[in-house]
Amino acid sequence: MNFDITILGCGAATPTKRHRPTAQIVSIRDHLFLVDCGEGTQMQLRDLSIKMQRISHILISHLHGDHFYGLIGLLSTYALLGRTKELMIIGPKELEPWILNTLKVSSSYLTYPLLFSPTSENENAVIWENDWLSIHSIPLKHRVQCNGFLFQEKSHERKLIKWMVKEFKIGIEESIALKKNQVIKRASGEIFDPNDVCEPIIQPRSYFFCTDTLPLTFDYTALQNIDLLYHESTFLEEHTQRAKATFHSTAKQAAQVALNLRAKALILGHFSARYPHLEDFVLEAKSIFPCTTLAEEGKTWSIPLRFGKESV
Ligand SMILES: [Zn+2]
Repeated sequence: MNFDITILGCGAATPTKRHRPTAQIVSIRDHLFLVDCGEGTQMQLRDLSIKMQRISHILISHLHGDHFYGLIGLLSTYALLGRTKELMIIGPKELEPWILNTLKVSSSYLTYPLLFSPTSENENAVIWENDWLSIHSIPLKHRVQCNGFLFQEKSHERKLIKWMVKEFKIGIEESIALKKNQVIKRASGEIFDPNDVCEPIIQPRSYFFCTDTLPLTFDYTALQNIDLLYHESTFLEEHTQRAKATFHSTAKQAAQVALNLRAKALILGHFSARYPHLEDFVLEAKSIFPCTTLAEEGKTWSIPLRFGKESV
């Protein structure tokens, strides 16, 4: 039941000795999603011993080179390794012809099915889901189409504790009511509270990857109270005008977004290479949102399981 985010790259624009371009692995219940794929991503996967064949989906936020120039190399390596498992690519619609043309001009062929799913420039959309997880694509405000990605676990109906069902002879109708969080009152006077006879509720967890954007006010309830927010902070406050001109955010602006969303924690990333030290990023952000940390290549953030009771 893991929910982990591992940073492969958190630098802006060009690779440097300190930072790689944007890429990260979101691993949820052992399903691996690669989010953005800057130059050198496959080497980072190797260096961090991440099993790259297990990646089932690659999500690309936008078509600036520092977010997707590592893609062709990775797709090609998969073919050289003889991959047969299908791979889904989610991103702007121009990505599909770019990949197919690049493979064609380099006389490359793939050994596995490559599927494409385009993101929307204007609307929030569920781009993928299964029984327990949905991924939303959310338009951001950048110089080109750019989407953030919300990973949201689904909530499930409550499960009854088996021995209690037997012990108290809980019937089908009673079970249905208890699973719906309703208190049962029998004619005999017995009362069953769902919090006593059901297993603890697992609170759904959520993570929002928000890169390359002007600071936004998100009018989207699914983003409220998220567990973890990764927000770009290309610049410091002294370069606010530069941030605005290039459709980026400052550390302070990222912190304000985290505060507005009532996020539980914030990771800052996408640092401009102009800053030799990053301490000021965290200082500026913490003045607004204390639970802030800096992204760092190779570092993993885990969102723990939380159990809770439901008010009845
Ligand atoms: Zn960009």
